[in-house]
Amino acid sequence: MTQLAAILAVTHGAARRRRPAHVPTTELPQIHGRNYARLINDRLLVVMRGLVDRLVIPELSSIVHAAELASDSLTVDLESWATTLTEIISNVRIQMARAVSDKELAELIDRQVVSGVMVANNHLNRTQLRAILGVDILGADPQLRSLAAGFVAENVGLIKTIPVKYFDDIERIILRNVQSGRRAGEIESEIRKRWPAYSENAKLIAADQTAKLSSQITKKRHGALGITEYYWRDSGDDRVRPRHRKLGDMSRDGKIFAYKKPPIVDVRTGRTANPGEDFRCRCTAEPVIPGIDDPEKKTRRAPTYAEAKAQYFRERAGREKTFFEATPEATHEEFAKREKSFVAVFKMQHPEHRAIEKKTKAAEKRKRTGTRGTR
Ligand SMILES: [Zn+2]
Repeated sequence: MTQLAAILAVTHGAARRRRPAHVPTTELPQIHGRNYARLINDRLLVVMRGLVDRLVIPELSSIVHAAELASDSLTVDLESWATTLTEIISNVRIQMARAVSDKELAELIDRQVVSGVMVANNHLNRTQLRAILGVDILGADPQLRSLAAGFVAENVGLIKTIPVKYFDDIERIILRNVQSGRRAGEIESEIRKRWPAYSENAKLIAADQTAKLSSQITKKRHGALGITEYYWRDSGDDRVRPRHRKLGDMSRDGKIFAYKKPPIVDVRTGRTANPGEDFRCRCTAEPVIPGIDDPEKKTRRAPTYAEAKAQYFRERAGREKTFFEATPEATHEEFAKREKSFVAVFKMQHPEHRAIEKKTKAAEKRKRTGTRGTR
């Protein structure tokens, strides 16, 4: 018996508990992503920019000068300035590796990111389960050590690529600009223009990784409790991608997904994912607990094939209207082409489609030709 089943047996007995209308979310607050972004900024971005400021920028004029000499004279080695540049950049790489070790990064991520996410996730899941179950589940923590270690190792590798890319970028900028005869000052401002992009990228990585970690922990916690299925819950704001909103809507209509058989998140490739696994996905899995009644359960029955088909055509009519309102000059072929992805989704969500359509077509054919089968 799983821990959850044991708790349910003790707390509920014969009385079945109803799922509350409002279940709190387990979406990780953004503060954790910001904490991680700050760590990346302080320990990597500031250091790598400092090195470029100290070891690269002051050399720009002499590189430009050497390049000018090379183009004026036939006796000077044409490539010597480029070799000097490569040497400077590889020195910068060496200094970077000395300034920030993998061990230090691992410790910082563990202490400043992982532990915070774990505490927050614990609180969020406890609150959510308490709301659903009506009791507090104590001592339900699964072993998270290997999950945390995997996250730390993977993230050290991931964020270490930031300075690697940055120095590649700097070297390319200098090469290209020196070759096209730009002055040192111009090259310097080109280099500085690249900085905001790196800081933005760090923020994206931090937000994505912390949300992913949290959803992995939730999945582990659910697994430890014997929870295998969930309702897909999106963040409910306008940043939710349409496909995920659709999965959330399906959940509200009664569709339950299993961790072992996640729904399709990319219609084009057929790729599947659990909530929180897509890039920057903030969706969460709200646990389905056997024995807990859903107050809307009666309406939450999954639609039949015929209902789903009717629903598809209703939505299609709406899409057609907005499409031609937005682009009156468009042709019906263009609309049909656009509609293809929706048809693909429908077919994937209803694998029974093929068999039913075949049957219907065969029946129609029999009707037309008047054959009564081969009995
Ligand atoms: Zn999502």
